[in-house]
Amino acid sequence: MKYVLSLDQGTTSSRAIIFDKGGNIISSAQREFKQLYPAAGWVEHSPADIYGTVVSVAAEALARASVSAEDICALGITNQRETTLVWDKRTGEPVCNAIVWQCRRTAEYCEKLKAEGLSELIYEKTGLIPDAYFSATKLKWILDNIPSARIRAERGELLFGTVDTFLMWKLSKGGIFATDYTNAARTMLFNIHTLEWDDELLKLFTVPRQMLPEVKPSGSDFGCTDKSVFGFGIPVCSAVGDQQAALFGQLCLNEGDVKNTYGTGCFLLMNTGGRAVKSNSGLITTLGATISAHENAKPPYVLEGSVFAGGAAVQWLRDGLKIISSADESQTLAAQVKDNGGVYFVPAFTGLGAPYWNSEARGTVTGLTRGTTRAHIVRAVLEGIAYQVYDVVEAMQKDAQVKICRLAVDGGASRNDFLLQFQADILNCPTERPKVFETTALGAAYLAGLYSGFWKSVDELKNNLSANAVFSPAMSEDKRKQNLEGWRKAVNRTLL
Ligand code: ADP
Repeated sequence: MKYVLSLDQGTTSSRAIIFDKGGNIISSAQREFKQLYPAAGWVEHSPADIYGTVVSVAAEALARASVSAEDICALGITNQRETTLVWDKRTGEPVCNAIVWQCRRTAEYCEKLKAEGLSELIYEKTGLIPDAYFSATKLKWILDNIPSARIRAERGELLFGTVDTFLMWKLSKGGIFATDYTNAARTMLFNIHTLEWDDELLKLFTVPRQMLPEVKPSGSDFGCTDKSVFGFGIPVCSAVGDQQAALFGQLCLNEGDVKNTYGTGCFLLMNTGGRAVKSNSGLITTLGATISAHENAKPPYVLEGSVFAGGAAVQWLRDGLKIISSADESQTLAAQVKDNGGVYFVPAFTGLGAPYWNSEARGTVTGLTRGTTRAHIVRAVLEGIAYQVYDVVEAMQKDAQVKICRLAVDGGASRNDFLLQFQADILNCPTERPKVFETTALGAAYLAGLYSGFWKSVDELKNNLSANAVFSPAMSEDKRKQNLEGWRKAVNRTLL
């Protein structure tokens, strides 16, 4: 039997999952690693932890399934995006810890870029809004602050990579120095229209071109792992950023397909096909996954929006307010009342993202009466997650001028049937939860397996991807309008 091995290097843990031809999980392993907070607002990872946990979970997953490395016909990598690493080309020694996407150390510099009027230029080329999230300013920080880094980089001694690049370089003992379009698109150095590293941006961020990896479609022949790592050279056939991996894993391969991941925050991605859609609501335009040598290997464009507080609001009910004892209980309680009783909750704990973009906004509960119960509050919190997702979907539909016909969902909070039913009601379109929840790892596996010929076609995958549940809209149009009106009022109060 042959299998595909998917390595999912996330922000808090590394995971390995082995898939069979039916898309079933044969075995998996997971290991958390340390988050480093060297200063207020700074977040780092040890590169040795990133690589070490990936190798150990891969070995563990192989051992658990009693599968030898020779039985793995393709390996796929998916990763936390934007996190930035710089290492010595000869020794492999990183010059400092990985600067994690969440790290705000370059926020002030990004404000300066905006004040200098550079937002438009950056957006036109990269589809991104200047922010400390993206790799460019993190890389510049390393070159400016780590002793002799700039000189060594200019001499061609140092390499830059996002996590995918670093992992492939390490797994191949320096044999692979590459990335894919989805990761490159998040660096703020890559032109998503010409599909090349952009000289003007390299100059702006003072980055020597020779540090940068080759960019390929997400499903490609990247090279092989070194024999010493798993005892056999495994072909690396995909590298893809985590959100784009989930989009592919959900088989959102056509224009207008949208997925939402309900995690701590929510990440929504819409495939816009060959159109790089300009957003009027502050959504990001980025690249999606594609496969080399397919007729059209040009990556699709993607609109991306996020909701800051998704499942985090449920965590707050449990750990902050302590009115539920588990996240699952939120569903039981919400279902105990026939409606929200006029209560709306806007979970603006850290401000509101698209389409409001207000960092000063803070959470609000409106419509409390003497009749309000714990169940109403819990219900309002779940509904608040769904309304925020609705707002982002609306913005996407407006920007892209398409009407969505289903929302593919995944992530921890998508376990909640009440949430998914309410989401379907408020969007007036079905929400669909797949059988395999691990859509991120699955996306990397699909890309690797399709590239290598393990799977012959997307149609074969469609047979694998059966829905676990489909929630169809069942709310009257009047009720929907009334609910949305209530939400708008609550948001307006939050924005005051
Ligand atoms: P992340 O990858 O961001 O850590 P996960 O996809 O693991 O997130 O999802 C975890 C989030 O899902 C938590 O914020 C948790 O509160 C929420 N969650 C888990 N189960 C439920 C549930 N049954 N109902 C609502 N939210 C849930």
